[in-house]
Amino acid sequence: MIKFKLKQTALLAAVLAISFACQEQNDVVTPELQDVPKEILDQIDALGFNSNEVKMHDGMLFIEGDIAISVEELKQMQPGKDLAVEEHYSTDNLVSGSPRTINVYVNMPQKYLDATDIAISRYNSEGLNLTFQRVTSSGSADITITASPWYYYWFGILGSAGFPTASGDPHNQILMTRAYYDGVSNINGLATTIAHEMGHCIGFRHTDYMDRSYSCGGAADDEGDGGVGDNYIPGTPTGPDANSWMLACGSPEGDRPFTANDKIALDYLY
Ligand SMILES: [Zn+2]
Repeated sequence: MIKFKLKQTALLAAVLAISFACQEQNDVVTPELQDVPKEILDQIDALGFNSNEVKMHDGMLFIEGDIAISVEELKQMQPGKDLAVEEHYSTDNLVSGSPRTINVYVNMPQKYLDATDIAISRYNSEGLNLTFQRVTSSGSADITITASPWYYYWFGILGSAGFPTASGDPHNQILMTRAYYDGVSNINGLATTIAHEMGHCIGFRHTDYMDRSYSCGGAADDEGDGGVGDNYIPGTPTGPDANSWMLACGSPEGDRPFTANDKIALDYLY
């Protein structure tokens, strides 16, 4: 009898705890956007980014939609020298030491492992000097793919990445937003976003960085040089490339395998 009552009490407590947790979650509907200090906006302007596009939360800046850099990293970035007007672009820093194998570790549910395998096979079937392979331990990882913080969903960020380091290593982290992808049925859309973020990690900028409205809609908007370089890749066409995997905006279910021009760009860099 006592045991039963205890059980009941425990159950009631659990129910109360759950409803309280839900209510708490409901209270926090949107992340708090920090005001970006003027000196940081000035630096963003000087680097050639559009400072109207910047979001800041928890000490992190979100530029170009899906490039996550810390305030400290931004302060170390120097204004770039080139001003490109063409199509398919890379950063100044690329992954060095090729031929080279890049180990990718996925710390997420099975769907994300499967999608990463598709993304990896798309790269590897191009016969590049970079080979990607998925590894099962974080210790040997060059790039770790893990879940993004909850507020990414509210910012509309499908995933984020960064650019290669000055010493020639790929950016080491990709964050994926589970709220967008846990429920999708077309895993190729998830594979496309992972391939897109991998593209940033090895030095690709957005194909339509000169006018994000091409894929994102809204007003024409140049992302600028961004201090990381926007080097034109010879052999790729002028004007935004429809269906490129490096377009700035996409939808969670949208599959964009490499186009003919994407393949030229990949082959040229690696
Ligand atoms: Zn991107």
